[in-house]
Order: sequence, then C-alpha cells, then structure tokens
Amino acid sequence: MANTAFIGLGSNLGDKLKNCLEAIELIREIPGCDLGAKSGFYRTTPVGVEGQDWYVNGVISLRTVLPAHDLLNWLLGIEKRMGRVRKDKWDPRTIDLDILLFGQTVINHEDLTIPHPFMHLRRFVLVPMVQLAPDSIHPVLGKTMSWLLENFSDDGQTVTELEGK
Ligand code: ADP
Ligand code: MG
Repeated sequence: MANTAFIGLGSNLGDKLKNCLEAIELIREIPGCDLGAKSGFYRTTPVGVEGQDWYVNGVISLRTVLPAHDLLNWLLGIEKRMGRVRKDKWDPRTIDLDILLFGQTVINHEDLTIPHPFMHLRRFVLVPMVQLAPDSIHPVLGKTMSWLLENFSDDGQTVTELEGK
C-alpha cells in the first residue's frame, strides 16, 4: 500500500537553495517513491541555537510504497552523500532531511519518531506544510496543519519566502 510522506528539507551551509534542490533530485531517484508537490523555499532563522547562519527550508510530498524505516535509510544515505558531517546535534549542515508525516502512521522507535516530534513547534515546517497540505491532520495532536499554524504562538522565528527561485 502506498503512503503519502512529507519530507522537510533544511540547509545552512554553502549554497543552501542549491543543496535543497540537489537533495530533491536525489530523492526523486529513490526506488518506490514518486515525487509529489514541492513547497516554496524559505529563509528562516535558526531555532534552539545562538550565532548560527540562517537556513533555507522547504517541504516536499512523496507517494511511496517503502516502509518508513527504509525511506529514512535512503534519506540518511542522501545526507551522507551530500557531505553532511555529524558532530554535535545542532551543527551547521549541508542538508537535513526529516520525515515529518507518513500517512497517518505513528511511530515511536528509538531511531524514528513520526510525526516528527518538533514539527508543530517549528514555524519553518508549518508554513510550507500549510502551503502543500493545509487540511492534513497531525495524527497525534488531531489538528490540521492550518490550525497548528494559526494557533502558533509567536516565538520570534522568522520565515520569509525566497524570491526568484
Ligand atoms: P534533527 O533533524 O532533529 O535536527 P538530526 O538530523 O541530527 O536531528 O537527527 C538525525 C537522527 O534523527 C536520524 O539518525 C534518525 O534516526 C533520527 N530521527 C528520528 N525521527 C526522525 C524523523 N522523523 N525523520 C528523520 N530522522 C529522524
Ligand atoms: Mg534530521
């Protein structure tokens, strides 16, 4: 059975938009996946750390027959291939690929949590999610993406759409 998955992309090192676009091309080649829609790309301020460069963030949707863990492994492989070096958790990264939603599936596994545990706390995820799928429901919170964004309390995160991409 195929599922619709939403993948969050982020980069804050090098040519950030190019990194996101390159990752999408690599995701397109994953067997058993059909690329769906692509959100706009946003310039966003880092959350949870001081003194880091701004990010480019966006979201894509996929139809996939892969199990969620297989999709995760493909995404981690793409991060690696694109030169992401893992040191500290919040280090600058060439590319970060997160599974935000996987149909209405809920997974609480040591190395995979779906829905992504921070998605509802990150404006840079909710803004592109609303652009792609405003009515999709967060299977744990039982709220739509629109609701989550509308009820997001302002915490100073700035999310500005990039122009001319
Ligand atoms: P973050 O994306 O939270 O900034 P990292 O990308 O450094 O952190 O964390 C990567 C690890 O997070 C992966 O090795 C993976 O096992 C785990 N992980 C747990 N849930 C998810 C998810 N929904 N999507 C992607 N990675 C996840
Ligand atoms: Mg990640």
